[in-house]
Amino acid sequence: MPPPVFRFAPSPNGYLHLGHAYSALLNFDLARASGGRFLLRIEDIDATRCRPEFEAAIYEDLAWLGISWETPVRRQSEHLSRYREAVEILAGLGLIYPSFESRAEIARLVVQREASAPWPRDPDGAPLYPGEAKSLPPDERNRLIGEGMPYALRLDMPKALARTEELAWQEDGAGPGGESGVVAAHPEAWGDVILARKETPTSYHLSVVIDDALQGVTDVVRGQDLFWSTSVHLLLQQLLGIPQPAYRHHRLVADSSGQKLSKSTAATGLRELRGQGASPAEIRRIVGLSE
Ligand code: GLU
Repeated sequence: MPPPVFRFAPSPNGYLHLGHAYSALLNFDLARASGGRFLLRIEDIDATRCRPEFEAAIYEDLAWLGISWETPVRRQSEHLSRYREAVEILAGLGLIYPSFESRAEIARLVVQREASAPWPRDPDGAPLYPGEAKSLPPDERNRLIGEGMPYALRLDMPKALARTEELAWQEDGAGPGGESGVVAAHPEAWGDVILARKETPTSYHLSVVIDDALQGVTDVVRGQDLFWSTSVHLLLQQLLGIPQPAYRHHRLVADSSGQKLSKSTAATGLRELRGQGASPAEIRRIVGLSE
C-alpha cells in the first residue's frame, strides 16, 4: 500500500491563527503517525484578497511550529489552465451555464422571491441562486459574453444530480451536528453553485477537488466549517471521474468567548503569540494537542 497523503491548504488572505495551527499540526501529526506524506498547498486563486506577505508568513509560521513539508509547494494560481480544463469537461457534458447578475441584482431577486415565501439558503447561509440564466437562449448568452459582461459559470445542479449515483462519504471526524460514520451527501443544498468566474477560471470547490486528485491526497483533514462542502466535492469527483479521498472534519478552535476564529488577533494570531514569547509547545497545548 502506498503511504497515506495528508495536506494543509491555507489561503494567503490573512495571517495564520490558532485554528490554522491546530489544522496544520493535526495533519502533520497524522501523517507522521501513519508513515504518510504531508503536503502544503497555497490556495491563492482570489487575486484580490491574497498577498505575497501572507504567503511568506504562512511558511514562516508553519516552520516555527516545527512543521516541514514537501517541495515544491503547489500554488493554485500557477495552475489555472488545469481548472479551466475541468470546466471544459463539465461544459462538454452540458452541465455548465453562465449567469450574468451582479451580487446586488441577486440580492434584489432574493428579496422579491421572499415576498411570497422564505427563499432557501445554502449550508453557509447564502441564498441559493434565484436567477433564470439557465433558460437564456444560446444567442443571448453569446451576445452578453461578447459585450464583455462579467459572468459566473454555474453547475446545473439538477442535471448534474441526474448523471450521478447516490453520494456518501465515510466521515472519520464529525460534522457540525455530530454527523459521523457514513454520511449522505446533499449537493442539492447548494443549488447551482458557481464553479468559475470570468476573471477567475475556477472556484474553491473546483480547485480543491482537482488538486486533491492531482496530488494523490488520500486523507482530507480540515475544519468542520467545510463539512457540507464535501457534498459538492463528492459530486464533482464523480462527474470528473476522479477518486474520492477519506474525510475527517475536525472541531474548530474557539476564542475565549466561544466564537469561531476568523481573523488573527493579538490573542489568537500565531505571529502575535510568538512575539509575546509563546513557544511552539505552548501553541500545541493551547489548541489541545499533546506534545
Ligand atoms: N483553503 C481553504 C481554507 O483556507 C481550505 C481548503 C480545504 O481544506 O479543503 O479554508
